[in-house]
Amino acid sequence: MSFSLYTLIENGFPEDRARIALEVPGRAHGPREWSFARLSAHVANYAALLAQTGLKPGDRVALQVEKSPEALILYLACLRGGFIFLPMNSAYRIEEVDYLVGDAEPALMVCDPAVEAVIGDLARRRGVPRVLTLDAGARGSFIEAAAAVTDAAPPLTRGADDLAVILYTSGTTGKPKGAMLTHGNLASNGLALREAWRFTDQDVLLHALPIFHAHGLFVACHCALLSGARMIWRPKFDRADVIDLLPRATTFMGVPTFYTRLLAGADFDAALVRHMRLFTSGSAPLLTETFDEFQARTGHAILERYGMTETGMNTSNPYDGERRAGTVGLPLPDVELRVTDDEGVPRTPGEIGGLEVRGPNVFKGYWRMPEKSAEEFADGGWFRTGDVAMIDADGYVHLVGRAKDLIISGGFNVYPKEIEELVDDMPEVLESAIVGVPHADFGEAGVAVVVLREGAVLDEATLIARLKEKIANYKVPKRAFFVESLPRNTMGKVQKNFLREDYKSACA
Ligand code: AMP
Repeated sequence: MSFSLYTLIENGFPEDRARIALEVPGRAHGPREWSFARLSAHVANYAALLAQTGLKPGDRVALQVEKSPEALILYLACLRGGFIFLPMNSAYRIEEVDYLVGDAEPALMVCDPAVEAVIGDLARRRGVPRVLTLDAGARGSFIEAAAAVTDAAPPLTRGADDLAVILYTSGTTGKPKGAMLTHGNLASNGLALREAWRFTDQDVLLHALPIFHAHGLFVACHCALLSGARMIWRPKFDRADVIDLLPRATTFMGVPTFYTRLLAGADFDAALVRHMRLFTSGSAPLLTETFDEFQARTGHAILERYGMTETGMNTSNPYDGERRAGTVGLPLPDVELRVTDDEGVPRTPGEIGGLEVRGPNVFKGYWRMPEKSAEEFADGGWFRTGDVAMIDADGYVHLVGRAKDLIISGGFNVYPKEIEELVDDMPEVLESAIVGVPHADFGEAGVAVVVLREGAVLDEATLIARLKEKIANYKVPKRAFFVESLPRNTMGKVQKNFLREDYKSACA
């Protein structure tokens, strides 16, 4: 099937293209606004710049910048021009960026002007032909270059199977893997969510999520753009700011931390959200007590959904039916789910096992890792999510654990193995284990449990400071403890369940 995800998105725009697609509220200078017409023109302009830069369809465009409307427009320009978009977490340190660039070999890197020199060096070393800059205030060489381009080509037609985005996700091996998402994956999931959540051009989505992740980029932006809704665009979640803007919105999407922060003050109440239509939550478990408190305070049942980088959204609680706290709802249309035992045999409802998914939303595999990709799929094209789940008699999916020991801190995934390798590399350290423990604000946070070499000296502050130099802050353990030895089972595996229990109050 030939089509263009970008054309599909433009087809969702309202008839009256003078209506506002994107608004950045501003106190001092008034709002910055993009009508749908202006948005299309900017997308065409950026796509033309990318083509003039010498990029060919299928080339990668890597981006590490602060959230901005221009960054979103650049994403849309990649879809339009057939280039593969590769967003990076803005908190990544240079070593993390270096690995991704080496792996993905982008033809263009767009970075913040503040790090142009460092990224320039990296690009030269890695053979990236071009670096342009873009900051949160729409300044930088990318914007200057785009202003000099006048022509534009029509959107490129792509096959549903062509790659649209590579989104890196860390694995149990500690090395990030590039999940290859096709135009067809993103289109099917965007349309499914628009229908499931009843998005229309009357909606106003308050957007406070980052856009280097599937939640903020695909779930939020595709729902809004495919339905011609308005987005109120915020650089990040700020409680006071969100409280200020919610009265103008109809929908809001968050990670659980957003909701616990909103509930933390009495100024968040039913009157403030009276006109709201929908609150959704995902990326990490929403506690039943948060769901209940939110409902008691506002009358709204938060709609929890579940997905992952590799698959987009798999399940959602119903829009009209019962939204069950502690569950992630029912499979989305066209998405098949099953729970299997350790041998891969499907289990019956009510039984716990590994959750597998199949459908048009499931990615094409990991970039340049054919063997690893094949390992993650069972016969019949079922992708093993790594989540442990139970599907009840009514079809609602309950997530009960994570096979991969993943820590989800403030909605961001932290893979213990990646951090353990860094700690183990420290000369004073014999071995270490990183476990997730409850954290009042982030839901969960990492704690390092470390065994030192004989006679070696290392303190908590030094260990944490060293990690902060190497990895994004959200990955750095909040506490470190030094012990004589790690608990292990007979197979020699560290018994992380014991550590989680021992340190469960460390970050409370
Ligand atoms: P990511 O690839 O960053 O989107 O992370 C995907 C993982 O986040 C999933 O495999 C789940 O473990 C977890 N996750 C996503 N949504 C939920 C949810 N609603 N409840 C619990 N865990 C979730």
